[in-house]
Amino acid sequence: MAVREELLKNIRTVEPYVPGEQPQEKVIKLNTNENPYPPAPGVKKELDSLDPADFRLYPDPASGVLVKALAENYGVREDQIFVGVGSDDVLSLCFLTFFNSEKPVLFPDITYSFYKVWAQLYRIPYECPPLDRDFRIVRTDYYRENGGIIFPNPNAPTAIYEGLDFVEDILRHNRDSIVIVDEAYVDFAGESAMGLIGKYDNLIVTQTFSKSRSMAGMRIGYAVSSPDLIRCLNDVKYSFNSYTMSRAALVCGAAAVRDRDYFEENIKKIKETRERAKRELSGLGFEFTDSGANFLFVRHPEYDGTRLFTRLKEAGIYVRHWEDERIRQYLRITVGTDEEMEKLFEFLRDYEETET
Ligand code: PMP
Repeated sequence: MAVREELLKNIRTVEPYVPGEQPQEKVIKLNTNENPYPPAPGVKKELDSLDPADFRLYPDPASGVLVKALAENYGVREDQIFVGVGSDDVLSLCFLTFFNSEKPVLFPDITYSFYKVWAQLYRIPYECPPLDRDFRIVRTDYYRENGGIIFPNPNAPTAIYEGLDFVEDILRHNRDSIVIVDEAYVDFAGESAMGLIGKYDNLIVTQTFSKSRSMAGMRIGYAVSSPDLIRCLNDVKYSFNSYTMSRAALVCGAAAVRDRDYFEENIKKIKETRERAKRELSGLGFEFTDSGANFLFVRHPEYDGTRLFTRLKEAGIYVRHWEDERIRQYLRITVGTDEEMEKLFEFLRDYEETET
């Protein structure tokens, strides 16, 4: 039964973000950019030492242990860090806190599709300058008046990383707007823009534990910025939900950050598999962007993207596909283990396109 019109007129309706599938049966899961390896061993130790009796008590609203571990890791002050329930939570609060202009917020036409949803949810005007033919962000499109800027680096789902000169150029041309760089995948790519925070008071960098730290299920994300902007973010958070991070997330997150060797080893393995995958896919006639992320954005000149996506799924290999006009021939394939990738290559070597 539909909601009556009289009620509907006061309801906030929105077209929601559609997350990638989380099949409950066992499949080769290359569809939501999770890390195929477990988190750092210290995470299990922390979990094992949790006492459920402590669950009676609320967690630390300031997320102290986690904030401290992150501040030490990045060499910034604790009041420069804000943590949330995945970077989705952090980014959503950033939209609410920082994008309040009548002028449009700018983000690319092909990018993380949640940006559009938050803009619509919070009724923020936005415009989406198109990526160029090679799926690169056109920096001059961001040299104009706006109510804020956000882009992922590397961009998603294109996987293309832009160097810090690009980020700095955008910052220089937008001194009076907040610029958010969503670095969900930066650990697989290159230098973070965090180093620019002292120089640009309008910069916010967000990152996540979901990819490079193998903790998507624990839901931890964070923003790094000036103490002044972090305070604004905290004010909105405390007006919304004081206790966002569970006790388990706080201690497990801190343990993951402290184990730098494990982190680096994990990333090295993913990058090696990614580079092998590029060679293999190239040999099979696929074309792709130069990925700096833990996923590949690929198309085959002779295969229909939707059909290949469906066939893969039928074979128990889940990848991501969008029906969006510009990218419907493309598949986004998460870098899994070598064994998982080999299963994918085996399928693709035998693949022959048929109409049905
Ligand atoms: N930004 C980008 C570009 C992403 O692809 C994702 C993952 N879906 C996120 C942010 C959010 O990740 P999480 O909420 O797991 O930190």
